[in-house]
Amino acid sequence: METIDRTRDALLIVDLQHDFLPGGALPVEDSDAIVAPIAQLAERFATVVATQDFHPPGHVSFASRWDKRPLEVVEVNGEQQRLWPDHCVAGTRGAALACGLPDGALTLILRKGTRREVDSYSAFREGVGPDGARASTGLAELLRERGVERLFCCGLALDYCVQASARDAAQAGFRVLVLDDLCRAIDPGNRLPALEAAGVRRASSTVLA
Ligand SMILES: [Zn+2]
Repeated sequence: METIDRTRDALLIVDLQHDFLPGGALPVEDSDAIVAPIAQLAERFATVVATQDFHPPGHVSFASRWDKRPLEVVEVNGEQQRLWPDHCVAGTRGAALACGLPDGALTLILRKGTRREVDSYSAFREGVGPDGARASTGLAELLRERGVERLFCCGLALDYCVQASARDAAQAGFRVLVLDDLCRAIDPGNRLPALEAAGVRRASSTVLA
């Protein structure tokens, strides 16, 4: 069992937004099942960060921008960029956080992917930009300032933004635990090599005392 330490532990809720829920632009199967348990869990942490995928129209990750189909891959700034349906467009309902997330429990809402030419799966570092570098979002520094040492990760989608965020958190020096039962994957068959390589632990939220 793991006991939640309200000083040193934080909860990271990744992209729990309407467009990733059933009926949204990029729905993740069964994702509505994790909203209520995550909302309950959030009440137990003193530091809760929710990320929000938040793209301008014509974003570099949109297939429509390239006149291609979703899931095709193009090269952006020297990196492979998978293309998606238009999703989480800033200011739309699809970009809004899932109803049911307790606003009062959220310490910070971190918007990512806000630059038109750069995608960002990770809460900690943007994708590679035109300058060839991955810019920090400042989240690691904020968590350290608050005394956080360990991060519990949940949300959507496990094989993309959760994986990237957990890997970067581990590389930034945090102990990281992905709560598998509170994540859903776009492709549940995807392996998660970045998690394995970064030494990220995975467990069910039932380990939380
Ligand atoms: Zn996105």
